[in-house]
Amino acid sequence: MAKRPTVKRSRQTKIVATIGPSSGTREAIESLFVAGADVFRLNFSHGAQAEHAERLATIRSLEREYARPIAVLADLQGPKLRIGRFAEGPIHLEPDQSIRFDLDPAPGDRTRVQLPHPEVFEALTPGQHLLLDDGKVRVRVEACGADFAETVVEVGNRLSDRKGLNVPQAILPLSPLTEKDRADLNFALDHGVDWIALSFVQRPEDIAEARRLIAGRADLLAKIEKPSAIHHLEHLIEASDAIMVARGDLGVEMPAEDVPSLQKRVVRYCRMAGKPVVVATQMLESMIGAPTPTRAEASDVATAVYDGADAVMLSAETAAGQFPREAVAMMDRIARRVERDPLYRTILDAVQYKPENTAADAITAAARQVAHTIGAAAIVTYTTSGSTTLRAARERPDVPILCMTSSPRTARRMAVCWGVHAVHTADVSAFTEMVSKACRIALKDGFASEGQRLVITAGVPFGTPGNTNVLRIAWVGA
Ligand code: PGA
Ligand code: MN
Repeated sequence: MAKRPTVKRSRQTKIVATIGPSSGTREAIESLFVAGADVFRLNFSHGAQAEHAERLATIRSLEREYARPIAVLADLQGPKLRIGRFAEGPIHLEPDQSIRFDLDPAPGDRTRVQLPHPEVFEALTPGQHLLLDDGKVRVRVEACGADFAETVVEVGNRLSDRKGLNVPQAILPLSPLTEKDRADLNFALDHGVDWIALSFVQRPEDIAEARRLIAGRADLLAKIEKPSAIHHLEHLIEASDAIMVARGDLGVEMPAEDVPSLQKRVVRYCRMAGKPVVVATQMLESMIGAPTPTRAEASDVATAVYDGADAVMLSAETAAGQFPREAVAMMDRIARRVERDPLYRTILDAVQYKPENTAADAITAAARQVAHTIGAAAIVTYTTSGSTTLRAARERPDVPILCMTSSPRTARRMAVCWGVHAVHTADVSAFTEMVSKACRIALKDGFASEGQRLVITAGVPFGTPGNTNVLRIAWVGA
């Protein structure tokens, strides 16, 4: 039984908050949840497994206390490339000077440094660029072989030990799952996370491998952060359960000016496919150190909301910043404000996608239409797998979507999805029982008042996923 008041969001766009040192305690996680976080991201690039397990346990206990499903996203580090170390501290690289990268683990200096990734040398060709430290240093490959690359500095800067490296122009023969990722993946699955995020996905085959390892125990989100992923965008969306526009690495691998149109393209494709899409990184970056965002940042969050993204994400703002709760609260306020703007609806409606020729889509499209015409309070989807709920969200209806499911996993997974309020209910056996339950839940959770109507979709007989075949209008309290 819930000890706390019902947490009901008054927005359609969801918020993903990354947990880190600034937000690891029970008190902090609870304050982020109350302020508006719907999904918590555990970032396996940082922190020990035990720490993540503890945070996950906290989230699950809050979930019980508030009787609200919360999704947990385990974000795997992926094949993040790094250079080696320097003998005498950071070096300074000047334009036009040469620097060699090789496999020798000996500490480096201004003329050479280790790059402990033979697969990078295999993929390089002269003329390509290496980016170091999030693009702060750029070098051009002049000559290369199986174990070295001679380069010339184009953009110089300070460079210190173990900095990250990006090779935007090459498809690297790297599995997106390193040994560390495999260990973290097993750990996350054993602890019952809902979503696995795969970093630096390049090809659909990368997803197939992860799928095999996940074996249905969680859903899979592919992070779009490599130019090669953009080339395979449609296939990657098809092969994943959700997508993240990971603008941090994407903006290093590609010119910054390309990121906004890519973001819009990815969001559109995902909406068309009915796959949840998360817009991520630097959304309220200045709130790492300040209690209010810049106007440009507020506008960035608003743009993602106007585009109809399923969720917006906070990274360092909540993980390592000084104002984690304020960042979530600000995102919540921006999303709610945009969603109140009549233009928001106009813009969403301007990109409606045709139903596919399935019974589920036909019923779902009809539900949206009926709900609009009769002024229903909400659309209710009764679902096992969540697939009908996702199709309903794809319609971006102008009423809330209640997802009733007997699967706690489905209820949690839906937390990332646009417009969905998921409720975990006991199994029902009869259609009439389900209808009266839907009415009770809509009333109790504040989505409808007595005398209002609900539009309910379900598959009868119950228990066969993907057989949506009923649309029912029900009076609440009648
Ligand atoms: P990261 O992913 O924070 O794990 O790098 C997000 C991004 O690159 O934008
Ligand atoms: Mn990244």
